[in-house]
Amino acid sequence: MSWLRALGDTGLEVSALGLGTVKLGRAEGVRYPTRFTIPDDAQAASLLATARALGINLIDTAPAYGNSEERLGKLLAGQRDEWVICSKVGEEFEQGVSRFDFTPEHTIASVERSLLRLNTDVIDIVLVHSDGDDLGIIRRHGTLDALAALRQRGLVRAIGMSTKTVEGGLEAAARSDVVMLTYNPVHRQEETVLAECARRNKGTLIKKALASGHLAAAEGDSVQASMNLVFAHPGTGAAIIGTISEDHLQANVQAVHRALAEN
Ligand code: NAP
Repeated sequence: MSWLRALGDTGLEVSALGLGTVKLGRAEGVRYPTRFTIPDDAQAASLLATARALGINLIDTAPAYGNSEERLGKLLAGQRDEWVICSKVGEEFEQGVSRFDFTPEHTIASVERSLLRLNTDVIDIVLVHSDGDDLGIIRRHGTLDALAALRQRGLVRAIGMSTKTVEGGLEAAARSDVVMLTYNPVHRQEETVLAECARRNKGTLIKKALASGHLAAAEGDSVQASMNLVFAHPGTGAAIIGTISEDHLQANVQAVHRALAEN
């Protein structure tokens, strides 16, 4: 399997490993195994340059990741065309508390705000940031329909949902372009969603491939074991791994290349 790959039928070409940027903007209300300090601008710029040098072109952010979007807007100035940017709608994180709004009105306002923050005319991928009630969001709020209208206006290239349930993942696969789901050695129950996305040629982004760092902290080469599992599946588009460590970034890229060589 190749490092650069088509993301389902979106027309986007992404690297097998994407960079998650929670830790570029938010240190509160996260469940990572060790405490960390948000990198300063020089450190963040260096991390992004290393990512590009390693062949990574995919970056994941969200309004709920503190000032991650705003920072990326500045840090990616002059290199926008080199990146596939994924952001989200639905979750706001203010004064240490998450709040959810999946209405069409909020969805439109949120994407318009993300365009300004990210300093871009178009966002490659926008996902609904689920609160756990995936099916309720899709059926009651029409959030995916609002995103489809934004795609029609040319403000977004591909739409989808970051889901938390198998039922929601299957529904998102039927109604959108990209599903972000959790898949790792201790959380395999969403495999059905990966299989359905493969069947429908939908894009998939794997979140929490290292169980938010808890796998990496475990015994043995758990990063390699996780990448082997993730990339053995024909439904996998890319794994989005969050890191602010250039050493970890390099190790993760190597682990993905080894996993791809096996499959
Ligand atoms: P993850 O990628 O499974 O794990 C990230 C954690 O693992 C970080 O604390 C990182 O610490 C550590 N890590 C990374 N590589 C490592 C290595 N080689 N060795 C040891 N530790 C390593 O989990 P995540 O950050 O929760 O999720 C990944 C991304 O998915 C997020 O950044 C975000 O973009 C996205 N996400 C989306 C949602 C959603 O609902 N849409 C939810 C969660 C996450 P260091 O910084 O020290 O490397």
